[in-house]
Amino acid sequence: MSTAISWAQNPDGTPGETWDFTGGCTKCSPGCANCWAIKDIWRMSHHPNPKISERHTGLVCKAEDGSLNWTGEVRCWDERLKIPVENAKRRNHKPTAYFVCSRTDLFHPAVPAEMITAAYDVMGHCSDDRFIILTKRPERIVPVLYGEEGHFYFGGGDYLPNVWHLTTVENQEMADKRIPELLKLRAESPGWPVLGVSIEPMLAGIDLTRITVPLGECGFVTGTVLGSDGTSFSPGGANGIGLDWVIVGGESGKNARPMHPDWVRKVRDDCRAAGVAFYFKQWGEWGDAPIPPSGHFEFERDGNLLAIVHPNGLHITPVNRLQAQIGHWLEERQRTMMRIGKKRAGRLLDSRTWEEFPEVRKR
Ligand code: SF4
Repeated sequence: MSTAISWAQNPDGTPGETWDFTGGCTKCSPGCANCWAIKDIWRMSHHPNPKISERHTGLVCKAEDGSLNWTGEVRCWDERLKIPVENAKRRNHKPTAYFVCSRTDLFHPAVPAEMITAAYDVMGHCSDDRFIILTKRPERIVPVLYGEEGHFYFGGGDYLPNVWHLTTVENQEMADKRIPELLKLRAESPGWPVLGVSIEPMLAGIDLTRITVPLGECGFVTGTVLGSDGTSFSPGGANGIGLDWVIVGGESGKNARPMHPDWVRKVRDDCRAAGVAFYFKQWGEWGDAPIPPSGHFEFERDGNLLAIVHPNGLHITPVNRLQAQIGHWLEERQRTMMRIGKKRAGRLLDSRTWEEFPEVRKR
């Protein structure tokens, strides 16, 4: 199925594909609160085509209050593993970018290691294609691929040059925890072409420059995840330890939470200082709505919701228009954001788009 996700595009710029061979998940951190996949799977479980509805029925349940959640069941659809191989056989096949397990998490603890390594078999076979894996469980990658779960799929130093790995984080706590776990993959083999972080939905400010990982086997020296050392960055983590790609996006959907513009700017500026590719996907449901000194509110007639976003990310206060217009009580660096919808909020940051892709490491 083709995907509209802008960072998952084919090398020729056309839309990439999703490749889903597992279904079901469980929420594991605040970023999961409004998981869009739950709604998508619920919709598919009511699809008029019984083949589609049966595949998805039982993965999501509806509570008495109407809210949806995962049931906790995780399923593997072995027959869907071969999709990229079948696509590659087509006469008009062109190199394709696949977003792997777009509606779940490949490294969820309930996905058997055998299923995961079978997927790496397929990815290794389809060497002209690019596979992008996002996970909130990066701590399971090395154990599954390099043997701690007992499978020894890769030998030390082995890697696939067409598989990109990203971990998804939403705040500093998750960034501190998950990014070093992801970067352990680089320690197993420096060959992995792209290791990155997707900060979506961004729910708080994140300082990537304060997260450190051990440099070298002895681990006595540390470097930041954006470069080789904590005070002077090296481009693209060129010493082999850092991140290659940073994606940032705000939340969309009914219960979306706003994102402070300064949070995005800080990550962008840190990436630029380190020479790391930065991709700004979207503002999400909430757009920046600064109150001009005159107190006149540009969107006043639209009747959209307003919120005050505090820079520390801990308090997001819905306000009415009158409160927002009395701008003098805003503390420094608090921002008013307006719920104007994903389309209108767009993806410009400081008047331009940011669509940098990483240079693929070749070793
Ligand atoms: S890990 Fe991803 S798919 Fe699973 S609940 Fe969280 S947001 Fe949804």
